Amino acid sequence: MRVVDLLTHVRDGEPVAKGDIAALVRGIASGAIPDYQAAAFCMAVYLRGLADDSTVELTLAMRDSGRVINLDDVPGRKVDKHSTGGVGDKISLPLAPLVAACGVPVPMVSGRGLGHTGGTLDKLEAIPGFRVDLSVDRFRELVRQIGLCLIGQTADLAPADKKLYALRDVTATVESIPLITSSILSKKLAEGIDALVLDVKVGRGAFMKDEASARRLATSLVRVGTGAGLQVRALLTRMEEPLGTTIGNALEVRESLAILRGEGPADTTELTLALGAEMLVLGRIAASLAEARTKLEAAQRSGAGLDKFRAVIEAQHGDPRIVDKPALLPTAKQTTVVKASMSGVLSRIDAYALGVAAMRLGAGRSKADDTIDPAVGIELFRRVGDSVRAGDELALIHHNTPAEQAVADTRQAYVIGDEPALQGPLIIDRIE
Ligand code: URA
Repeated sequence: MRVVDLLTHVRDGEPVAKGDIAALVRGIASGAIPDYQAAAFCMAVYLRGLADDSTVELTLAMRDSGRVINLDDVPGRKVDKHSTGGVGDKISLPLAPLVAACGVPVPMVSGRGLGHTGGTLDKLEAIPGFRVDLSVDRFRELVRQIGLCLIGQTADLAPADKKLYALRDVTATVESIPLITSSILSKKLAEGIDALVLDVKVGRGAFMKDEASARRLATSLVRVGTGAGLQVRALLTRMEEPLGTTIGNALEVRESLAILRGEGPADTTELTLALGAEMLVLGRIAASLAEARTKLEAAQRSGAGLDKFRAVIEAQHGDPRIVDKPALLPTAKQTTVVKASMSGVLSRIDAYALGVAAMRLGAGRSKADDTIDPAVGIELFRRVGDSVRAGDELALIHHNTPAEQAVADTRQAYVIGDEPALQGPLIIDRIE
């Protein structure tokens, strides 16, 4: 294969010969193909798209650029969940132990937060002592022993994605559906899973701002994932206002514990159960979504989900006492209340603005090497549609640095009007 011929085909939207994309990825991973040709490939795909069969080939080649974890010795179908990211999205924390408690092994390799969205690894590291840097062998052992392990991306999982993503980041080619699809799926396929549930978020606080593009991404993930041999389901979910009542790492761990106890906010509880039900059906532990929900609710009531969370925290070197005593989680030195400046109805709560405000407090990163303060964040007291009077408490800022900017940003993120803005359902659609 001549790389320039392949680039010409992709640039002109022509079919690509089988095997050429795999050869390209091997060349990119080994360094035999220079960055300028890899970047030209990304731009050609960004501008012209890529057929599903070529995207499957790209995904599998990226998976095979590194180690592929083999979990064949773990009984049962291994199922993971991936979210495209949102503000206050802590669902993996209650979901993984609840699903594992019902008997589905959950091998979860997660990411860190960047920009206005948080990352599962940062939330887990708010638990004192919790380690996400376990070896792949220990990961396999814990999935086999307790049915669950939550670690970070290792250097040898899908390294071609790391290289391509870094190039996309500096060549304005991140927002391409085939490139996002192959990037997400290659890493998930390397975990050794049988099935995957995707939470594709739509709205101001999400990566995909409009429903049509989120739907295109969800459909592409399902089609390409299926083509690559996975069973895949996707939920399209709303991300206009933050999810749940907390933004910030330790605060989100507290909310996760409440969800596991069956005492969580309505939206985060609903999403945990909806995604969990898909995972139980894909894990062949339940024959229908209704039966799966009943099992998940029973695991909440019996405390089996909390027990599983306690077990994984202990196995990953964290302090399991936080499960019964959340006060042991890091707390900020100061709190400041944000009050409504006028009376009316909460018509909008801007997830993006609150995500940025929490990041500036130290709950997230604006650059990959920023350090996180696990204790800080924003607690939300009101939802869209609530009536408020001037002076009512809207939110509580937890901070270790001056909070004037966060208070102003939070007040601005709460839009008070005469009526709530039209909001669709939390779960917009289900794609299989
Ligand atoms: N998340 C990923 O892992 N890859 C992308 O390309 C975009 C979001």
